[in-house]
Amino acid sequence: MSLFSPYICSMQVEQSLKNYINGELVEPLNGQYIDNVEPATGKVYAHIPSSDAKDVESAVQAAEQAFPLWSNVGVKARSEVMLKIAAGIKKYQRELAAAESMDNGKPVALAELIDIPRAHDNIHFFATAAEHFASESHHMENLAINYTLRRPIGIVGCISPWNLPLYLFTWKIAPALAAGNCVIAKPSEVTPLTAYLFSKICIEAGLPKGVLNIVHGLGPSAGQAIVEHEKTKAISFTGGTKTGEHIARTASPMFKKLSLELGGKNPNIIFDDADLANAVATSVKASFSNQGQICLCGSRIYIQEKLYHKFRDKFIAAVAKLKVGDPKENDTNIGAVVSKEHFQKVLNHIEIAKDEGGQVLFGGQAVKGEGRCKDGYFIAPTVIEGLQPNCVTNQDEIFGPVVTLNKFKTEEEVLALANNTKYGLSATIFTNDLKRAHRVAENIDAGIVWVNTWLLRDLRTPFGGIKNSGVGREGGFEALRFFTEPKNVCIKY
Ligand code: NDP
Repeated sequence: MSLFSPYICSMQVEQSLKNYINGELVEPLNGQYIDNVEPATGKVYAHIPSSDAKDVESAVQAAEQAFPLWSNVGVKARSEVMLKIAAGIKKYQRELAAAESMDNGKPVALAELIDIPRAHDNIHFFATAAEHFASESHHMENLAINYTLRRPIGIVGCISPWNLPLYLFTWKIAPALAAGNCVIAKPSEVTPLTAYLFSKICIEAGLPKGVLNIVHGLGPSAGQAIVEHEKTKAISFTGGTKTGEHIARTASPMFKKLSLELGGKNPNIIFDDADLANAVATSVKASFSNQGQICLCGSRIYIQEKLYHKFRDKFIAAVAKLKVGDPKENDTNIGAVVSKEHFQKVLNHIEIAKDEGGQVLFGGQAVKGEGRCKDGYFIAPTVIEGLQPNCVTNQDEIFGPVVTLNKFKTEEEVLALANNTKYGLSATIFTNDLKRAHRVAENIDAGIVWVNTWLLRDLRTPFGGIKNSGVGREGGFEALRFFTEPKNVCIKY
């Protein structure tokens, strides 16, 4: 069987994706569709259901029916189905990677290396983690024993963004399902294809109907309906800070549990004593992987004064070697940014940087694609120096292939600069001084700090940001705690 039959293999025929509700692939009740555009070509290649509150209502009804069975069937039975889903991702990994690349504009090599293997790992990890999940017990000497029961919440909403589509979609639904909840999920309408293919994998794996329901559509209609439905008791959201604020305003007065993974403007700090080759190679990845569209990208690079020129020259030389072009070609490093709207937003930010007095050392413009990519949304990796800490370019999340180089003298100074932002998602430090690494890691405002590396992830660790980068943590038992309701039972001796 091919996930793509009958159409996407040829990529010729336009077709419509479907919602996955009550175990079936169904059309939106209103019959409305949105165009799905391939960023590398700028052409419409499929249509996406433009679902609304009615579709969400039927998804909620399906989830309600499924919940008693799924929550009571036991962790082992849930784990077995989830492992079949993980195996399905592995079986169709090449097709999924091709779909992710076409839908998002990312290089197919990146989707094959990162996105799809990680989607598999997310499902596999939580399928097994749930079997090891334990709750606490508190002994009151000669009096009583307390133990904590952790029961699934019920129906939960999972809303994910377009930058790492299947990776972040599965990162949310896996712990929710493993903990025994039924899920209403909405992928970004900008990149819905792999979530649609994932629904076919769930059907093939025998996931009971109604346990997972995937509703495609726009944020303000389908997304909003999930958030404001009285029966979705928890919302796990990853996306922009503004959308997160809006979701919190809707869900908080309804007393829903909320996990918000939001934007970032992450510092990448290079001290004089760093291993220069590693700092350069890792910083190139941290700057431009996925066209700079990763919430963890280090977009503000701080280099200690003595190393500044050396780092800058080597960094620019490495950036100049990156190939921008057709994401289907295996040697492409930088594909297309996700949409025309985003393309214009990023180019506009480059103009703002110039107006603010920034000198563009490399890139700074759109790149004209060749052949089938002539109308695609390509932007050269862009490196800018000479900007002030409080300027828009150093404060706003651009979420594209744009980084700034900034000089600093002392550790105190760089800590103040790094923390001078409303965000607090991640930070990267390059140093060979162990004491300094510990000191800076402790004092930096971020939920995740990498030392001499970037994006090295252990799925057991807490993941999330502070300040405007979010509320709560995903990953490991943190996620299983989020998707369960603790109940204390006290037994008197
Ligand atoms: P958005 O906030 O625009 O959208 C995220 C999701 O929310 C999409 O599915 C979107 O649907 C949906 N949505 C929009 N409005 C509403 C609403 N009113 N109610 C419910 N759902 C809604 O983010 P992007 O997709 O543009 O993603 C980029 C952002 O995500 C960046 O800021 C990035 O930093 C952040 N991000 C954070 C991560 C983290 O872990 N902290 C990881 C990855 C990205 P639609 O697409 O239809 O608008």
